[in-house]
Amino acid sequence: MATDTVKEKTTKGAINVQTENIFPIIKKFLYSDHEIFLRELVSNAVDATQKLKTLSRLGKFKGEIGDTTIEVIHDEKAKTITIKDKGIGMSAEEVEKYINQIAFSGAEEFVKKFKKKSEGEVENMIGHFGLGFYSSFMVSKKVEIVTKSHMTTKKAVKWSCDGSPEYTLVEHDRKQRGTDIILHLADDSLEFNSEAKISEILNKYCKFLPVEIKFGTRTNTIPAETDKDGNKIGEDKTQEVDNIINNPSPAWTKSPSDVSDEDYKAFYRELYPYNYDEPLFNIHLNVDYPFNLTGILYFPKLKDSLQVQKDKIQLYCNQVFVTDSVEGIVPDFLTLLHGVLDSPDIPLNVSRSYLQSDSNVKKISSHITKKVADKLEELFKTNREDFEAKWDDIKVFIQYGMLSDEKFYDRAQKFYLFKDTEGKYYTIEEYKKAIEAAQTDKDEQVVHLYTSDVEGQHSQVEQAKERGYNVLVMDSPLEGHFVQHLETKLEKVQFKRVDADTLDKLINKEEEQVSKLTDEQKEQLKPVFEGQVVKERFTVVFESLSETEPPVMITEPEFMRRMKDMQKLQGGAGFSMPEMYNLVVNSNHPLVSKILDEKDEITKGNMAKQVTDLALLSKNLLRGEELTKFIKRSLDTI
Ligand code: ADP
Repeated sequence: MATDTVKEKTTKGAINVQTENIFPIIKKFLYSDHEIFLRELVSNAVDATQKLKTLSRLGKFKGEIGDTTIEVIHDEKAKTITIKDKGIGMSAEEVEKYINQIAFSGAEEFVKKFKKKSEGEVENMIGHFGLGFYSSFMVSKKVEIVTKSHMTTKKAVKWSCDGSPEYTLVEHDRKQRGTDIILHLADDSLEFNSEAKISEILNKYCKFLPVEIKFGTRTNTIPAETDKDGNKIGEDKTQEVDNIINNPSPAWTKSPSDVSDEDYKAFYRELYPYNYDEPLFNIHLNVDYPFNLTGILYFPKLKDSLQVQKDKIQLYCNQVFVTDSVEGIVPDFLTLLHGVLDSPDIPLNVSRSYLQSDSNVKKISSHITKKVADKLEELFKTNREDFEAKWDDIKVFIQYGMLSDEKFYDRAQKFYLFKDTEGKYYTIEEYKKAIEAAQTDKDEQVVHLYTSDVEGQHSQVEQAKERGYNVLVMDSPLEGHFVQHLETKLEKVQFKRVDADTLDKLINKEEEQVSKLTDEQKEQLKPVFEGQVVKERFTVVFESLSETEPPVMITEPEFMRRMKDMQKLQGGAGFSMPEMYNLVVNSNHPLVSKILDEKDEITKGNMAKQVTDLALLSKNLLRGEELTKFIKRSLDTI
């Protein structure tokens, strides 16, 4: 830095005498987010650079623009951070006007607005925008501005302020156009006197700013040339090059027609260097009316995880990073997506709760929802095969959207897919048509049978298939809610899990079959079967099924199970519902008659035990000691 030459003219003054000293307040509040000072100052440097470019385009600045790289310079020994730009610069009058007056009253207003609020509320604000240049005093005991206007007639000046409302303004011998902001770090902010820390902050907030930003240098290795056999000629060379920390033209700022699939993927890797999964597809947003919104949203592979994936969307304002928690700005289900949104129309110095009621935010949010639905529909229509291949990874997302957003439901019901146990996909409408003939019950309800666990409910699935029924696979964590929702939306459609009842009951086509057993005989048998199971969890019921059905079956009534599933999904705090089953005895099965006729009480019990255990086994409910006993008993009979 050039040495100061104090000229005849030194201005000393109070920045603003009328009001209280806001510096201590600036220092104190927002204390969890002090790091934003760097974002504010680098953004100012970017603005100053872009203003110069605009003036040049308009013919108002005739000089050479030259290299405009912004530099962030750290001097650990001196405990300073300097932000150096080659932008429009400021004259003495402009410093007076913009720094002492406009910026100060801006900061003052900002401080006043939030001073009264509790810390919690301040922290809940979006982005902490509005403090601007004076945010530098959050971390500095003294700030200097050395600046030279792009207007060649204006002299360079140096402004200096030590965190009190007093400042000095002196002429300076700087020759180069542009501005240096020099921060002398305060003793309680020395965490920022670290290259790693500055690097981290720049990477967080400035990664996509539109002007190149240099922070130190890095070593580039130039590999030695090789001969035709691939042997190196000479040594690898190293070279010190500028360390540019940002990508000034990220994919989302480009026109979609200029971005290739590979570019989108590369940008995803740039955003999430630690996420190794490739995204499934993306949506490029580009709106300038009635609000300004650009961005790229990616569909990640979701599988079953709902929580882990959240908070991946980054919000920018004119390429300045604002936050990666977009809750309140986009509907909850969209927070499962990844990517970036950039909008200067989202108010950034307000609280999150305020945002939800902001009309621009509402419009933006429903626009994004619509675009997402458009994209999905387009994929479904243009390449169904590919859509089906991706389905299992996006299903949870779509269910979440359909459950929480009425408009999205209306769009998505056209391309929502059911998958059956054979791996075949159907739309909601296609599926109803496909099963209507076989699976309509006597009340004209089209019964959609499903399994939540293909392995665990294998025997029930097989039995249904033998009857010519189709079974859907519904195994996402939202399925319980989703099924319930579909039933309210679709006419004459019911969902029943294959193990919820016997098939005759699940799809009840005609009146009761005749029972071979009399009511008295059933009464006689009931305690025999009750003796084989835990009474509190199993209810013994008799049904007149065909002889080819098993003698005893375990079913889990649909209603009870749904209640339990939902409770589980909601975290199941406190009271937890026990699992309740029906032990269905097939009164038409010859084995059941045999048990009834058996005179020896012990043999009778053993027979009942064996058929009951087999039923439990097929539901994976026979465990521990009971299972060991069963195996032993079975082996003894061989
Ligand atoms: P804002 O950037 O929101 O206008 P700031 O407090 O950050 O508020 O800055 C106030 C003003 O000071 C800017 O509008 C600009 O005119 C001037 N200024 C700040 N930094 C620079 C800079 N690096 N180069 C030129 N002018 C600057």
